[in-house]
Amino acid sequence: MMDIRGQTHPFLHAPDKRMLIGGDWVDALSGRRFETRNPADGSLLARVPEGDQHDVDRAVRAARAAFEGPWRRFRPDERQAVMLKFADLLDAHWDELAWLDTLDMGAPIRHTRGSRRHLVGLMRFFAGQATALYGQTASTSMNGDMFAATLKEPVGVVASIIPWNGPLWAMVFKTAPVLATGCTLVLKPAEDAPLTPLRVAELALEAGVPPGVINVLTGFGRTAGAALAAHPDVDKVSFTGSVATGQDIVRASAGNLKKVSLELGGKSPHILFDDADIGQAAAAAAYGVFANAGQICTAGTRVYVQRAIHDEVVERMADIATSLRVGPGCDPDSDIGPLVSARQMERVLGYVDSALEQGARLTCGGHRYQDPERDKGHFVAPTIFTDVRDDMRIACEEIFGPVASVMPFDTLDEVVGRANDSPFGLGAGVWTRDLGRAHALARRLHAGSVWINCYNQMDPSMPFGGVKLSGYGRESGVQQLDEYLHVKGVWIQHD
Ligand code: ADP
Repeated sequence: MMDIRGQTHPFLHAPDKRMLIGGDWVDALSGRRFETRNPADGSLLARVPEGDQHDVDRAVRAARAAFEGPWRRFRPDERQAVMLKFADLLDAHWDELAWLDTLDMGAPIRHTRGSRRHLVGLMRFFAGQATALYGQTASTSMNGDMFAATLKEPVGVVASIIPWNGPLWAMVFKTAPVLATGCTLVLKPAEDAPLTPLRVAELALEAGVPPGVINVLTGFGRTAGAALAAHPDVDKVSFTGSVATGQDIVRASAGNLKKVSLELGGKSPHILFDDADIGQAAAAAAYGVFANAGQICTAGTRVYVQRAIHDEVVERMADIATSLRVGPGCDPDSDIGPLVSARQMERVLGYVDSALEQGARLTCGGHRYQDPERDKGHFVAPTIFTDVRDDMRIACEEIFGPVASVMPFDTLDEVVGRANDSPFGLGAGVWTRDLGRAHALARRLHAGSVWINCYNQMDPSMPFGGVKLSGYGRESGVQQLDEYLHVKGVWIQHD
């Protein structure tokens, strides 16, 4: 594996970046830029345009023109060919893209590199779907000869607003269904990690995606993001981020009743029964919350452990937590990188303080690192609390940091009730060797995904999303296509 420590990323040789509108690399109309920094050491990576509502207007115009223009006449097999080329380019450039993600948002290079098979596979999966978009014929009860059928048509201009915790991931998830269905896209990256989407957009152009089909507009949420969500010529918003912003977006979308899909936060339960393989279950529970320093919407932060194995699981999880290497993402030996920003670190440490004030017991972690190697970065130690009550803030609210609450339980009914007693419903994990119990929990847990004897599994063939405050709509899987398609009923009387 190439050692990238100390090297400059080729994309960052010119630190002043431009954004992509209508196939052109442009500055913001205001001329303003903002900085993006490496969360591992605070160093400046690049300056990107600060797009505002005027730039949103021109990006939406470009996306509309592309939708009504040559892109509309691309046959499905032509869209598919472009997507397969795009997938090949992503594959060929994966190390470079992963490295850029690591620099901009902090995740260890092992983590960002590791999603290659899934994400390149997802682009190829959706390339396959481009030639498999079916309507239906209906057997109506009309008199006379009536042919009645449905057509699936692209919704039009899609705005995607994405978070910082996996820009490369989000860029692939948001572009693949757009290209497969023949929509066009204006994507706004997060202000904390805008770089990888710009680089992926270069590859999209190289693959032959026509100008204006994918536009990437950098800017802040309250200006560029809000303008996109409210824009009268945007047909759909696909948002991934926090609940509060998701609610703002739903309100902003009301003007022209945009179609909206939301992938929001979670407080996922991870349930370990005493008949499980304790070693595997404890390791999954630890990685389920510490991966990406807890900055994953499916982080299994509420760990419910059946009483007989509670102490052993805590001990094993603490062993893992204290042996994980917390360091810069560019170090191939790092297991956990920094949190994305000083603001995020303060937030996470605030939750640690609240847990201590509310009487939880700190088993390990709970502090940032101040040794010379890490004092300029936002590094927080993997943290485990026990003696946590269900009503404590750390057990109810999404933390988005490496903080686990481990809580004992006695019976199945009890743990189902406690697991479901949450405003969120994104993921849920279960460890048991009892097949009947596994099936019962698969049905009874309120979650978009239930993982039994595994955690956080994802595949292009499977849908992903939430219920309750975790959002609505699905990403990945054939189910996602309908989020980007309208159904039209066509009636032909032919007698
Ligand atoms: P976080 O607080 O973790 O940054 P957000 O949900 O605020 O999560 O951010 C996710 C994305 O939403 C980012 O791209 C951000 O710029 C954008 N965003 C933030 N506020 C708004 C808003 N009011 N309208 C539209 N987009 C927004």
